[in-house]
Amino acid sequence: MNVSENLKTIQQQINDACIKSGRNPSEITIIAVTKYVSIERAQEALAAGVEHLGENRDDGLLKKWNVLQDKPSWHFIGSLQTRKVKNVIDKVDYIHSVDRLSLAEEINKRATKPIKCLVQVNVSGEESKHGLEPEQVVDFIKQLKDYPNVLVDGLMTMAPFTENEAVLRECFRQLRRVRDEVKHLNLEHAPCRELSMGMSNDFQIAVEEGATMVRIGTALVGNESEEVT
Ligand SMILES: *Cc1c(COP(=O)(O)O)cnc(C)c1O
Repeated sequence: MNVSENLKTIQQQINDACIKSGRNPSEITIIAVTKYVSIERAQEALAAGVEHLGENRDDGLLKKWNVLQDKPSWHFIGSLQTRKVKNVIDKVDYIHSVDRLSLAEEINKRATKPIKCLVQVNVSGEESKHGLEPEQVVDFIKQLKDYPNVLVDGLMTMAPFTENEAVLRECFRQLRRVRDEVKHLNLEHAPCRELSMGMSNDFQIAVEEGATMVRIGTALVGNESEEVT
């Protein structure tokens, strides 16, 4: 596992996707998802030039945060239990998984400054996935104006687990359409600039479809729970 080489490969793949879709690679932030790996591996990612780390559990985030502090920007990408908000709120720069009013209310209450939040959308409709249905997003976001510490900076989705490119593409397109709809409302509390979509297996398609944040674990830092040591 050579994180630095993985990063170069991924950057090249992002460049290729940008060329295909007429985008500028500087529009895309790579988030290294370190949930399966050690602090050492996370440090390798930072040494290679990664500036954003993502974790999906409060305990995993805290363990790494205690060592790395605010060297990277921290992204909370997993489903967040309301009672755990207080553990992470002063450590994270982004929360990608706002999917209910009670969570927004708790973020608003615990935060001491506006937190960049992404609303999670379940585009594929799979029951196992968290997130709002696409049709619910606009109304939900309008209701968030009552929470000054919740800045709606974008939308996030997890694509279905499939290699069917057309299905993936349509999923990302749909998220983008909803994002554009929200953006055009020009709501002060919801600039909705970001599209967090794309993981190890599908980030190139996501970039072609407008992703501004890709969340990459396995392809970038590996998965130590599956590695032979
Ligand atoms: C684990 C995870 C990722 C990264 O998955 P990989 O397939 O390892 O790249 C991205 N987003 C979320 C929400 C995750 O939980």
